Amino acid sequence: MVEKACRSCHLIISEGSQCPICGSKEITDKWASYMVIFDPENSELAKKIGAKIPGKYAISIKG
Ligand SMILES: [Zn+2]
Repeated sequence: MVEKACRSCHLIISEGSQCPICGSKEITDKWASYMVIFDPENSELAKKIGAKIPGKYAISIKG
């Protein structure tokens, strides 16, 4: 199964059709690369995309 990304918070979603973090159903499989954030409070990248919990996030969403 192709992993999808949430359009609102960029979280990578491997199952289901709803984002477990923000509850958004606006998910897309048109994302490019991803990053893994372990420590959102001390990560500049996490702040940049607004990630608040550890996880896998899409860096760029195209669709
Ligand atoms: Zn989300």
